[in-house]
Amino acid sequence: MITVLSGGTGTPKLLQGIARLIDPLDITVIVNTLENSYFSGVYVTADIDTVMYTLAGIINDATWYGIADDTFITHETLNLIGCGELLKIGDQDRAIKIQKTLLLENYPLSSVIDIQRKNLGIKSRIIPMSDQKSHININTDVGDLEFHQFLIELRGEPEVLSIDYNQVEPAPGVIESIENSDMVIIGPSNPVTSVGPIISTKNVRNVLKKSYVVGVSPIIGDKPVSGPAGKFMHALGYEVSSWGVANMYKNFLDKFFIDLEDIVHEGEIEKLISEVVVTNTNMKNTEDKMMLARNILGEFL
Ligand code: GDP
Repeated sequence: MITVLSGGTGTPKLLQGIARLIDPLDITVIVNTLENSYFSGVYVTADIDTVMYTLAGIINDATWYGIADDTFITHETLNLIGCGELLKIGDQDRAIKIQKTLLLENYPLSSVIDIQRKNLGIKSRIIPMSDQKSHININTDVGDLEFHQFLIELRGEPEVLSIDYNQVEPAPGVIESIENSDMVIIGPSNPVTSVGPIISTKNVRNVLKKSYVVGVSPIIGDKPVSGPAGKFMHALGYEVSSWGVANMYKNFLDKFFIDLEDIVHEGEIEKLISEVVVTNTNMKNTEDKMMLARNILGEFL
């Protein structure tokens, strides 16, 4: 049994590799919910939906958002009638989000996701990090912003001064799945707004300390492969490098996978984390994803 902590871009790439190598019934994915919010009346759980679509084999992996070959008739019609939306939600994707919104009237998010992943034929468990709502505040040089305002409306351009979010209770199954796993994998996801919120849910950090935890750095050289992780790490006072990530994870990580390009601080990361593996972590194709997954899963295969 393995548990993977995931955001919505880097770790889903790794999940594509992992899912080809081990029985899906042996995989649980705990997913970030920090960015969940309502758009055009539907509840958007962006990272969870990306993980669901990835494991169902229908993800649009050009953008790591939405369903491959989806149509956008509703989105375009909304624009035409003066009801433009910040997120470009596809029609099939919207249907799943409508169902989610309706189910949420009667069930907590974790039950809703369990129903939806089963509907999509996914055998692995997918657990939202929390059933409670998170609130994030990104303090920037243009004022306080919410996540999507910063990332989409302002294209991630403002200078980030600080970031804070509330602590929430872990959803049912989060603690148990970590405790019952032979290995916990912290995928290459944003350490501030994807992994950080998961490990900050109550008691998760403590159970991670007692588990065998393997991590993959989302930073290659001195920048992230994609997204605002560099800006966010800098705002929190961490160096934008695998060494910076190691400083964030050092209290609970047993093994850390960093990229061949991470020559900065050679030998320094080993002082923070007992085992460091230097390999290709840039997952450009299926072969890269499977190679990294095989490397991580090692003796469990
Ligand atoms: P978000 O929820 O969309 O922000 O997605 P995640 O948090 O899951 O992933 C974003 C992080 O994944 C960024 O920091 C990227 O640097 C990292 N990432 C994306 N692709 C790769 C990859 O192929 N290799 C590595 N090492 N990191 C990656």
